[in-house]
Amino acid sequence: MTALQLTNVCKSFGEFEVLKDINLTVENGEFVVFVGPSGCGKSTLLRVIAGLEDATKGTVAIGDEVVNIVPPAKRGIAMVFQSYALYPHLSVRDNMTLGLKQEKQPAAVIDERVNKAVQMLDLSAYVDRRPSDLSGGQRQRVAIGRAIVRDPKLFLFDEPLSNLDAALRMNTRIEIAELHRKLSASMIYVTHDQTEAMTLADKIVVLRDGRIEQVGSPMELYNNPANQFVAGFLGSPAMNFFKKGPVEVPENGTLGVRPEHLRIVKNGRIKGTVAHVEWLGGDTNLLVNSDQGEPFTVRVFGQDATRVGADIALDFDDSAAFIFDHAAMRVRT
Ligand code: ATP
Repeated sequence: MTALQLTNVCKSFGEFEVLKDINLTVENGEFVVFVGPSGCGKSTLLRVIAGLEDATKGTVAIGDEVVNIVPPAKRGIAMVFQSYALYPHLSVRDNMTLGLKQEKQPAAVIDERVNKAVQMLDLSAYVDRRPSDLSGGQRQRVAIGRAIVRDPKLFLFDEPLSNLDAALRMNTRIEIAELHRKLSASMIYVTHDQTEAMTLADKIVVLRDGRIEQVGSPMELYNNPANQFVAGFLGSPAMNFFKKGPVEVPENGTLGVRPEHLRIVKNGRIKGTVAHVEWLGGDTNLLVNSDQGEPFTVRVFGQDATRVGADIALDFDDSAAFIFDHAAMRVRT
């Protein structure tokens, strides 16, 4: 059985079409990440699945049931928001039990589920505190706990880590991945952060302007992007694009080479001047202006000694180069 099936889903706000003919299947137990630039429609798509917005056209099926006219509370979903959306006047435990009480679950079931979630999320020390007395990371764990206790068919996460600092974001990301393994639950996760998408997803859905650009596992999309947009969106630093390429490209086409595939050599097909150096400790990013006037990035393992102003030559294996045609579709590697 599939967890979710979207068929020809469209969504317009007045004249403005935000989602255009979305078709997607989420299998049971899958962790699916919607990723794309700001305004591409990720949150709207999640809200259509949750029932917080109605699809203008198409069907939304959760499990075997078409839910287009089913209200959010009856869809068997639980949603976790960036803003946590906790009740400030209730304790952690009460925030987690409230939904179950409203569902009129028996007290024993409530206790069992809440205790299990508290343990799983390492929240035992905080159950009597109010949200204002917790850190951002702890608040987000409570919000996740509140979703877990509902035992939903489908978890929906809307940018849940955006309010956390970088270190906490990474820890919480790992916790969410562990939670997914423990619960074997179906999860959909919205983010604009390609690192979160790459590290969490079984399946990434890349959206642009309300359309799906490509669906696949992180490595499928990284190694075989269908087009220049996907190639440029996944990977950090981003793929370099050369119009005046050192290899032949179709008319008005583009050559793409990832920063980690460029090597500094004595005589290379690309020549340029180093404009900026970023030493990250483990590796170094060189920002270079090519002799053809095109800026690009080179990622060097370790602490590179190249300085700003240096003239360098670079090359790459042709097997690691991507060729895009005039319409930005990938024609070959
Ligand atoms: P972000 O990462 O910035 O949150 P997003 O990909 O989640 O972006 P959405 O929030 O889904 O994007 O918005 C997609 C588009 O739909 C945007 O152009 C937005 O302005 C528009 N939009 C969203 N909600 C409404 C609404 N209620 N009325 C009109 N337009 C809306």
